[in-house]
Amino acid sequence: MTTTRFAPSPTGRLHVGNIRTALHNWMLARQAGGRFILRIDDTDAERSREEYVEAIRADLAWLGLDFDREERQSARLDRYEAAFAALHAAGRIYPCYESAQELEVKRKIALGRGLPPVYDRAALRMTDAERKAKEAEGIAPHWRFLLDHAEPIIWQDAIRGPQRFDPVQLSDPVIRRADGSWLYIMPSTVDDIDMGVTHVLRGEDHVSNTAVQIQIFTALFAAGFGAPSDSAPALPVFAHEALLVGREGKLSKRLGSLGCETFRARGIEPEAIIALLARLGTSQPVEPIADRSKLVAGFDLGTFGRAPAKFDEQDLERLNAAIVHQLPFAAVQDRLPHGMDEAGWHAIRPNLARVGEAADWWRLVTGPIAPPKLSREDRAFVAEAAAALVWSEDPWGALTARLKQITGRKGRALFLPLRQALTGMDHGPDMGELLPLIGESEARARLQAAARD
Ligand code: GLU
Repeated sequence: MTTTRFAPSPTGRLHVGNIRTALHNWMLARQAGGRFILRIDDTDAERSREEYVEAIRADLAWLGLDFDREERQSARLDRYEAAFAALHAAGRIYPCYESAQELEVKRKIALGRGLPPVYDRAALRMTDAERKAKEAEGIAPHWRFLLDHAEPIIWQDAIRGPQRFDPVQLSDPVIRRADGSWLYIMPSTVDDIDMGVTHVLRGEDHVSNTAVQIQIFTALFAAGFGAPSDSAPALPVFAHEALLVGREGKLSKRLGSLGCETFRARGIEPEAIIALLARLGTSQPVEPIADRSKLVAGFDLGTFGRAPAKFDEQDLERLNAAIVHQLPFAAVQDRLPHGMDEAGWHAIRPNLARVGEAADWWRLVTGPIAPPKLSREDRAFVAEAAAALVWSEDPWGALTARLKQITGRKGRALFLPLRQALTGMDHGPDMGELLPLIGESEARARLQAAARD
């Protein structure tokens, strides 16, 4: 079964880049009728906060990205111990004693010689006596995973195509700190195995992690860890999407803090965010598609490009307006001003950039309206209109047809003074839809009042 996961670290709120990753994993799972897992990567106890876990859940709920299962790394520490023991027994983990400063000096020396700053495996060459001496000094080891240098690491990335890494160019990754806590790299692999993750879809900042993790997967499988006895264990499909950049084409700080809270406060609909992020950076056109099942049906990793995807807030605003114009009454009912019914929503919807503006336009129906400033001729004209008003199925059509006949006015000269008299504004919702909502006696009263002013 297709199984994807979204694995945020609860060290902050979701930003637009994370939302995009969550969305694509959700789409991949939903399209295949598979499972979507929310995995909270909270092994970093110091930086992880419960309030962020709650905010992540709330944001996903607001976006409508439902998950089938929630997992937390902090509840799975025994599995990481077991994996660690298996890798240790297989000789794939070794203790290291360098301080952060010593490692930094090594890095600088390598860079100074024009070499890649790859860890030199000095700890691997230590004798037992040397290790004992370090421990006698009170230095507890941190632990590295021993990369296998024998063969290149290759995989077929579902977005980037064939990938190849020379393990010699990579540092043996630290997987466990001296205080016993875990770094992200191994627990994530253990989880992907235990949870049957079939597709790892994430940002391209994780490409080199994937190279390392492929070796961790293979080493764990070889150690018999998590492999079902009757089937050969398989690596997940890996897919790395190009990063999101701001309009200027740079990785902007702004994108890193732009999230659901801001979108919501700005009146952006979740469907607008979904429609934009579903296709941004792909060869499919970004369109105001309010029905997400259509987006899910067409989702295809093969359409993702390699160039950074440009996130433009103005595109989002435009898409939002186009989506608001399609939203059915049932979807917005709770957010509309008191008394506004389905006909009211339909009349006003085309004028909105955001649902929250409905109240401003609804005032044109409920009144009072701003008294219009009309010329003497227009005042006489709207006085005629007040007398000519007859209520019917289509009072606006009837009124304008009648006035055209009586006065010979047409176009703007016919419509504008009527709109001004009836709404106090010179633009706004379709009068044919608005007038029945205003009602006969109120409409007549407004026409009469405008004739007097
Ligand atoms: N917690 C990691 C992150 O937020 C997850 C990466 C992954 O998807 O494996 O970057």
